[in-house]
Amino acid sequence: MSFAFVSGNPALDLAGTVASRRDAPVDALAEPLDLERWVAECDGLPGRVAVDFVGLESAWSLREALYRLALDRVLDRAFDPSSLKIVNRAAAGPVPTVELSDAGLHMSGDLLAVLAHIARSGMAALADPHACFKECGRTVCTRIYLDRSRGARRTWCGMDECGNRVKAAAYRARRRSSTVGDGGAEVTA
Ligand SMILES: [Zn+2]
Repeated sequence: MSFAFVSGNPALDLAGTVASRRDAPVDALAEPLDLERWVAECDGLPGRVAVDFVGLESAWSLREALYRLALDRVLDRAFDPSSLKIVNRAAAGPVPTVELSDAGLHMSGDLLAVLAHIARSGMAALADPHACFKECGRTVCTRIYLDRSRGARRTWCGMDECGNRVKAAAYRARRRSSTVGDGGAEVTA
């Protein structure tokens, strides 16, 4: 399964590793190796961390708490207290170290440090009153993203992931209905 990093924040990208949350949830982080791959592919995180099942369970717990808080922002309601507790606890841990060189930034740290970093990134967005949290317009997707477009007019989590699929389906539907309607339409003159 390939991962999408389209939410505008690593915490939301982590929450987005469960798709179709309301209908038939699909978890892209089913085992420790999946999470190792996700961390390696996510920008701004250490390239390599070791993950065992205990670590995966911590990540699941943080992920679901972050999703719940993001949904609270989408629905404009108070934060869920137990999710706040989980995210605050994760953020309190040590964070990855960052080193600058001619090759750029190099980040290193273990899984707990990675989760602390993700929790802090999520908290910064969740606390920002100007951050526009939206759920993807393709209802089965259920991914939450930050809309930073001008006038906040973005509809999809990502064009490849959802926008193009919805547009292609709408195009097919239009073609079908125009074919069915051919010959039947009276011209008003
Ligand atoms: Zn989507």
